Amino acid sequence: MQEPKTYFIRTYGCQMNELDTEIMAGQLQKRGLSPAADEESADLLIFNTCSIRDLAERKVMGKLGQLGRAHKRHALIGVTGCMAMAKKDSLFRKFPHLDFVLGTNNITDLGVVLDEALYTQKQVFKTDDRFEENLDYLVAVRDHKLKASVSIIRGCDKFCTYCVVPYTRGQEVSRPPESVVEECKKLVDAGYKEITLLGQNVNSYGKDRPEWNCLFHDLLAQLDRIPGMCRIRFMTSHPIDITIELMQAIRDLPSLCEFVHFPIQAGSSRILKKMHRIYTKEQYLEKVALLRQIVPNVSLGTDIIVGFPTETEAEFQETYDVLKEIRYSVAFLFAYSPRKGTPAMRWNDDIPEEVKQERLQRLMALQEEIGNEERQQMLGQTVEVLVERFNRDGKNLKGRTRCWKKVIFEGDESMVGTLQMVTVHSYSHQTLVGSIKKLALID
Ligand code: SF4
Repeated sequence: MQEPKTYFIRTYGCQMNELDTEIMAGQLQKRGLSPAADEESADLLIFNTCSIRDLAERKVMGKLGQLGRAHKRHALIGVTGCMAMAKKDSLFRKFPHLDFVLGTNNITDLGVVLDEALYTQKQVFKTDDRFEENLDYLVAVRDHKLKASVSIIRGCDKFCTYCVVPYTRGQEVSRPPESVVEECKKLVDAGYKEITLLGQNVNSYGKDRPEWNCLFHDLLAQLDRIPGMCRIRFMTSHPIDITIELMQAIRDLPSLCEFVHFPIQAGSSRILKKMHRIYTKEQYLEKVALLRQIVPNVSLGTDIIVGFPTETEAEFQETYDVLKEIRYSVAFLFAYSPRKGTPAMRWNDDIPEEVKQERLQRLMALQEEIGNEERQQMLGQTVEVLVERFNRDGKNLKGRTRCWKKVIFEGDESMVGTLQMVTVHSYSHQTLVGSIKKLALID
């Protein structure tokens, strides 16, 4: 094996993985590698993997198997991300042609692992259980010129019984506020208009470092003060950690968008307890009511799992009723599937697949109805849109509102990267269609 000249990273899963890919790409470019046009032509091929769903894992396993059978030999093949943490060096037994396995907590060590694999010509793995806050975030190479993700906390301490994240990403480790502020300032100076703060549970930010005296809402206030900061979003939250101070920050900080991903997961308190979500349905509903009282124009998003072990029809109906009552703007709906290494894996997955799918379809139909009613209500309203690019039709511009709604409208290239006020006059599927209300608010 020789020092690779080109690389290709295939990314699976969530925004955290996408950001890790941007950081790894930056490290590789600093080392002198250039991006390859596709997997086939790359000297170094990295699979940045996800373990949340079985399908994502199966795709990677299939791909790795195929590469082993292929005639072309890549200089190096590596697996990073959650699968690397879940399977560690056992991957080498199944895929002898794999060169390295690098865990989610070892992104910093990519260069060292490459050196070792090249020097020793042996398989190398590094999968620490805990993240050490020494990552050079500023090296990230981003494709998007307007929107950027910024990591503020890694890992999760919540241990929901169905989730692998605490095992694949380890304990919560907050990033120092000055480091977050420095990166955000650089992004704003480089022309970025929207920053999404990322973490498995951003609301836990700073709790592991009380000496910083900087919780999530304090960090948001610091970021909002950055001159030129246009929009801030965050992803994702655990309902238990959504505080009054955070709700007030959403109300008071001009750059902070009025959209909260507030994942309930299930509408039955018994199922929530079995999921170890550490709140009841009633506590959740109270929190939503308080948030809506403090921020009346807030939009909510959620994740819901149907068919969790032992879920009865009546308990599913509670989930259905919560969806109907809260009327989320965005809902990610899933049928339960057991994940290896989680406590729920030990339980009988007793809800037949057809029952899960039928419940899922009912929820999807309801969400579709709610979405259409919401879009209907928006007709005639004027909304702020951050213009991102031309739509696929090549005629309209496309952007998102502060509440994450997709909007298209007629305009010209000069509007890309600006905020525009757009009056909604119709909608097509989930996209609002409008026309310009007035001139740009900012350049
Ligand atoms: S809060 Fe629960 S679902 Fe979210 S990452 Fe942590 S353990 Fe997983």
